[in-house]
Amino acid sequence: MLDKTAMMALGHIIDGAVVDRAEAGGIDVIDPSTGGAFARIPAGGKAEIDRAVQAARSAFEGAWGEKSALERGRILIRLAGLIEAHFDELADLECRDTGKPMKQARADITAAARYFEYYGTAADKHHGETIPYQKGMTVMALRVPHGVTGHIIPWNYPAQIFGRSVGGALAAGNACVVKPAEDACLTPLKIAELAIEAGLPAGALNVVCGLGTEAGAALAAHPGINHISFTGSPQTGTAVARAAAENHVQVTLELGGKSPQLVFADADLDAALPVIVNAIVQNAGQTCAAGSRVLIERSIYDDVMAKLAERFAALTVGPGAEDRDCGPIISARQLSRVKTLVDAALADGAKVVAKAALGADAPDGGFYYPPMLLDGAAPESRLAQDEVFGPVLAAFPFDDEAEAIRLANATPYGLTASVWTADGGRQMRCANAIEAGQVFINNYGAGGGIELPFGGMKRSGYGREKAFEGMISFTTVKTVVLKHG
Ligand code: NAD
Repeated sequence: MLDKTAMMALGHIIDGAVVDRAEAGGIDVIDPSTGGAFARIPAGGKAEIDRAVQAARSAFEGAWGEKSALERGRILIRLAGLIEAHFDELADLECRDTGKPMKQARADITAAARYFEYYGTAADKHHGETIPYQKGMTVMALRVPHGVTGHIIPWNYPAQIFGRSVGGALAAGNACVVKPAEDACLTPLKIAELAIEAGLPAGALNVVCGLGTEAGAALAAHPGINHISFTGSPQTGTAVARAAAENHVQVTLELGGKSPQLVFADADLDAALPVIVNAIVQNAGQTCAAGSRVLIERSIYDDVMAKLAERFAALTVGPGAEDRDCGPIISARQLSRVKTLVDAALADGAKVVAKAALGADAPDGGFYYPPMLLDGAAPESRLAQDEVFGPVLAAFPFDDEAEAIRLANATPYGLTASVWTADGGRQMRCANAIEAGQVFINNYGAGGGIELPFGGMKRSGYGREKAFEGMISFTTVKTVVLKHG
């Protein structure tokens, strides 16, 4: 269990050891539920990234590179077991670091363990191919790791995104350097420590803390990196891809979305509405796959809005540890961004249809923004087009299937979508026509599903993570042409 009174001093994990503990100085880690600092991380930069990349290269060329796929898999499965064994401690850390309700923090730690289990069991089932070629020759297309992979991860799901990103990379045989977000990075640090206990050789998994503009930029531009996986904002994604392009390094970008939830007049509303509310309230709307737009067929618009309003007004909001429906926003900066976007929409004519109330016990210093249902925003407004990254649902009516699809596709993003209808033909027509990496029919996963390939179209990014597909992204093909006569 966490000692809630002590200030924690964390260090980087480089070459199999905790280094540079931030006893003083460094970056304060703030508890979003209270606004108070409870830990310090070191502010790493180019020098620490250099050390980590060198350690990773040595591991790749040495102890880690020598492991068989089976051995790699067994270490990852042991790590999954250690995460389960430290479940309460990790859930407490995640809840405090991000402010997310405890049940969400627990679900995230379960998912992190499952990523390592999934990729641990996949490690030795990842085959290359042989290609029929000329007589007297055998051609093999081998699947080989990139080498040293860089991972820049965000603050919204630190444990989960760490598991999804390094799980596939390690299973494929890469050595990793991770730059977690400065706002929330405690579970990645703890899981990397557990990886050492699980038997991962020194240097195979390094975690360097620090600011994005310092440590993150140094990792993206490092010539010793062979592949970069980035999850975060489109603007930073562009900077990372640009830096990587200087070294001709391949990048996977997961940049968020503006995911539509389409509700047709024949939908089962009892099934749809709780899922639609959860899709935006989960993690206080700070989910790349948050269902931030609800598109409702006009004939049922008023009825659905009245039912959604009832649900929004009943939502509870408070500190993560109190396990309400919605916790705080991650930081004062993000809270101010959410407020600015919503205030601009209200000034432009959008209306608040319903709003949850903040619990009386929520500390004054916390970064709370009670969930809100909005109506009447212009489809071209920032609220309708941009990620708000807060618990704010914007509703829009449509007249027919064609208009629903047009509205669904009318943002620069294309990450996920849900379609609620009993009409089988329409289900598949919508799935085909909606520009998104994942389309859910009569359900919504909000990014969940370790076994499901995940990633974007359009401004949501490119490349795929999760599932077997995610492991393939962390390999490249080497063709061997053997002439034997
Ligand atoms: P961000 O993109 O700036 O941060 C994501 C990660 O990138 C962090 O680890 C950060 O330290 C790092 N980073 C920042 N600048 C960097 C740089 N120049 N080079 C390399 N790495 C760098 O995101 P943010 O500022 O924390 O949040 C802003 C917005 O991003 C949010 O409002 C939201 O819309 C979006 N976002 C999306 C996701 C997602 O899952 N898709 C996650 C977090 C944030």
